[in-house]
Amino acid sequence: MALSLSERLSRELSHLQASGLLISPRVLHTPSRAHVRIDGQDVINLASNNYLGFADHPALKEKAAAYLREWGAGAGAVRGIAGTLQIHEDFERQLAEFKHTGSALVLHSGFATNQGVLGALLQEGDLVVSDELNHASIIDGLRLTKATKKIFKHADIMDLERVLQENDTDGLKLVVTDGVFSMDGDIAPLDKIVEVARRYGAVTYVDDAHGSGVLGADGRGTVHHFGLEHADDVIQVGTLSKAWGGVGGYAAGHADLRELLINRARPFLFSTAQPPAVVGALSAALEVVRRDPSLMQRLWDNARYFKAGIESLGFDHLGSQTPITPVIFGEAPAAFEASRLLLERGIFATGIGFPTVPMGKARIRNIVTAEHTRDDLDKALEAYGTVGRDLGVV
Ligand SMILES: *Cc1c(COP(=O)(O)O)cnc(C)c1O
Repeated sequence: MALSLSERLSRELSHLQASGLLISPRVLHTPSRAHVRIDGQDVINLASNNYLGFADHPALKEKAAAYLREWGAGAGAVRGIAGTLQIHEDFERQLAEFKHTGSALVLHSGFATNQGVLGALLQEGDLVVSDELNHASIIDGLRLTKATKKIFKHADIMDLERVLQENDTDGLKLVVTDGVFSMDGDIAPLDKIVEVARRYGAVTYVDDAHGSGVLGADGRGTVHHFGLEHADDVIQVGTLSKAWGGVGGYAAGHADLRELLINRARPFLFSTAQPPAVVGALSAALEVVRRDPSLMQRLWDNARYFKAGIESLGFDHLGSQTPITPVIFGEAPAAFEASRLLLERGIFATGIGFPTVPMGKARIRNIVTAEHTRDDLDKALEAYGTVGRDLGVV
């Protein structure tokens, strides 16, 4: 007799429970801001990806509302059939111009972008060399392809070169890396990666989800940060869901990339286009970041201030180079306990343990935003000091 659905569900759930991996998301009773309300308590939010405060920004909401009124609630079809509205194409031109790339295409999310682009680009006989810490959506995207997959050690140029030396093909060679790694906050050494990739005739593919809106002039991203945006052998993908405040993903690079994706990327072909309000919000985000450089300034001032504070309390933040600030607590239960104690003190920051991060490196992952005030950060640091001492970590 076949397994019943209830049995499958209860077995899997108790397995997750037993291994401490069962999550139940916290519910926010306010928009995503520097301060949010959780369980009736006003808390300082260090858990979001809302780097520039765009999730609830007046200019984004205004343009979203204008597009909603003018263009409707939905796009009505998939992009390839009848869902490409003029605002989609206008935004893609705006994005390509912002990124300084030959073309840009927008998809539904960063996750869908990795599925779509890797799936569209790679064929049997191709070789992909992927950083061991790459995001889940890259791993899943690669599963959709028949290319040969090899892994290199995290950000390790020597190991990347070894893999490229040991594996050759007449097909496409693709080196795949995150631009900024979401758990440690380190930046991929793209200058070196691209240099090695070129020597072996490989194209570099950068998933810049945490670099978009954070690194490079006006937040143009990690590729821009390294001055590689004009390179035809670098493909940038990323998200419009984190710093840019809406939801969506993009692929930008070679002038012909867009056209191939329009024809081959399965999320583009088989999933309904982004609704007008989202396009409006994203378009406004690109305008605001160029009009108001103080946002990027505040983001980085806050990031530096918070990291310096964490360091002087005696915590390890793994030398993060970005506003992502991990605070190491050791084993997972300590990180989860710390998160709970911080929440009691009005600080919302999530604990992350194995298998998302290595054993012994369980942490609380903080993301400081442009919206936090010095007072917010001082309160958070004070709470970290107390909790760290209570748990014997500092
Ligand atoms: C968050 C993230 C994604 C997913 O982006 P969404 O737009 O939220 O789907 C993809 N890649 C990386 C590296 C990410 O950090």
